[in-house]
Amino acid sequence: MDQRGKNDRPALALILFGSPGSGKGTQSKFLVEWLGIPQISTGDMLRDQMRRGTEIGKSISRIMKAGQLVSDELVNKLVEDRIAQPDCKRGYILDGYPRTSGQAEVLMEMLRRVGTEEVVIHLVVDYNVIISRLTGRRVCPKCGTLYNASSRPSLKDGICDLDGETLVVREDDKEEVVRARLEEYERLTWPLLQFFEGASERMYHVDASTRKPEAVFAEIQARMNALGFGDLGVGDSGVGELGVRS
Ligand SMILES: [Zn+2]
Repeated sequence: MDQRGKNDRPALALILFGSPGSGKGTQSKFLVEWLGIPQISTGDMLRDQMRRGTEIGKSISRIMKAGQLVSDELVNKLVEDRIAQPDCKRGYILDGYPRTSGQAEVLMEMLRRVGTEEVVIHLVVDYNVIISRLTGRRVCPKCGTLYNASSRPSLKDGICDLDGETLVVREDDKEEVVRARLEEYERLTWPLLQFFEGASERMYHVDASTRKPEAVFAEIQARMNALGFGDLGVGDSGVGELGVRS
């Protein structure tokens, strides 16, 4: 096998963007299963290097202990090594990378060099919808059961079904905290989206605000099928088929 997928097609680099509450984790899981390609997370790779105590791992530990950020150069090197592994031959999904425009430029150069085709998918959400979804969450401080005002309400408002405890809002789900997270995401991601708008011919914005995850996934599958990446992997959905397995 060389660096090509079935039917001599270029390998795929699927770059996934999505704000907090967009369901990015769920879509990523669906895609891994459907396409049969690995998901690559730079956070996992950094932790892996540290656990294995490699030279790179040791320098990452030093950098992090000093409270500094790992350089773009080092992250790019790790990604380049990782995607040269045999399980990435047909393609891979990038999660949490690139995180800066500098990383994105290096990535695109590298993909062109090895003949891999990128597809960029941005899960677009309406912030008001996300805020009401995330801030509607309640947790029981006694048993830890999670409730949601819209999708999984308790039988009696504000009271745990199991033990009658008064439900509380977690610190992470408070509106000002959620807003701050969304603003931070936007600040960091906006330059990247701008970059890919210019650099990639295969960038798609998919509405993930209100639809069920299965409907969002069906749209992503349709895009991938149209690009000829639908039968990349081991999934049992044939080319042109838009249905999802439940
Ligand atoms: Zn409870």
